[in-house]
Amino acid sequence: MFQSLFLINIIFIKRANQKRDMAKDEEGNGDEEKGGEAKITDIPGIGPGIAAKLEAAGVYDLMGLAVMSPAALSDLAGVGEAVARKAIQAARGMMKLGFMDGMEFAKKREDVGFIGTGSTNLNNLLGGKGVETRSLTEAYGAFGSGKTQLGLTLAVNVQLPVEQGGLNGKAVFIDTEGTFRPQRIRQIAEGMGANADKVLRNILVARAFNSDHQILLIDKINELIKDGEPIKLVIIDSLTAHFRAEFTGRGELADRQHKLNKYLHSLMKMGEQHNVAIYVTNQVMANPAMMFGDPTTAVGGNIVAHASTYRMYLRRGKQGSRVAKLIDSPNLPDNETVFFLTEKGIKDEEE
Ligand code: ADP
Ligand code: MG
Repeated sequence: MFQSLFLINIIFIKRANQKRDMAKDEEGNGDEEKGGEAKITDIPGIGPGIAAKLEAAGVYDLMGLAVMSPAALSDLAGVGEAVARKAIQAARGMMKLGFMDGMEFAKKREDVGFIGTGSTNLNNLLGGKGVETRSLTEAYGAFGSGKTQLGLTLAVNVQLPVEQGGLNGKAVFIDTEGTFRPQRIRQIAEGMGANADKVLRNILVARAFNSDHQILLIDKINELIKDGEPIKLVIIDSLTAHFRAEFTGRGELADRQHKLNKYLHSLMKMGEQHNVAIYVTNQVMANPAMMFGDPTTAVGGNIVAHASTYRMYLRRGKQGSRVAKLIDSPNLPDNETVFFLTEKGIKDEEE
């Protein structure tokens, strides 16, 4: 009895908040960073206790809730199915999920932009034009497979005009391993006849010293974009190295995955909100359980796999080439292609 009274009270307050947030939305400034975006606890029936349970299960935001089934939510949160159904409907309503038809969706996709990789083969592997905005592209592979080189090449190419495979934009390079080399950017820029100083000035580099710092930098990037920096590409090289180094014990794996999942969600959100391309690199580890084929798996497991829109596995090929294999893409067949790492960046042919 006491509990249900309490719940109603919450619903009442939340309804008021909900209205306020929706009004904001209609004005077109339901901006998260200003505290306007609806939270999971704004949903009737979802208090902080349930929100914590949901979060532990990887559901952080309205979208996560909106796509759940009543049975799953009921199970997870320990509420009745009727309450669960209402909560999901409320989340869908607030997301306006039910109202986006195919046309609207297609329209939203119309302003997706592409950044050429420098290799036609690699562009084709990714659907034709390279790495795309509003998406997260992941490259995983062994040391020396070309993950960083691809990032550096993209950081230069994003600056090109659209007709030349760029987005007229700037790049952010989050360097966790200290492998960013301005000199290498110069080489790639000069290789395409661009002014190297200018190109370097359009790449905002930050060294992330640990995973917390890496996470904090997201807020910084969002701020820069809001302040009008034309950032069109965010590179995280490497996505997982700090997480992997900091959470070493067996018992810490769940914590690591939880933190990584949250981080990936904020990256995806940034990509979606600001129409930015996200490129992340990932390491591989030996998978002793695998007896045939290439016994390597990406760090971060399913959490990273689910977050990535395009996932490529890079490895060394014949005669100094590199092989890229597309893994589990939602709209492209799994496929393999060959490219080269050259002085001028990523290319189809050896120089
Ligand atoms: P990782 O996957 O570990 O990030 P990198 O992207 O750093 O690997 O790739 C390193 C490789 O890139 C080197 O082994 C070399 O083959 C190639 N490479 C780096 N710099 C140059 C250059 N200036 N000219 C040609 N190839 C280069
Ligand atoms: Mg690297």
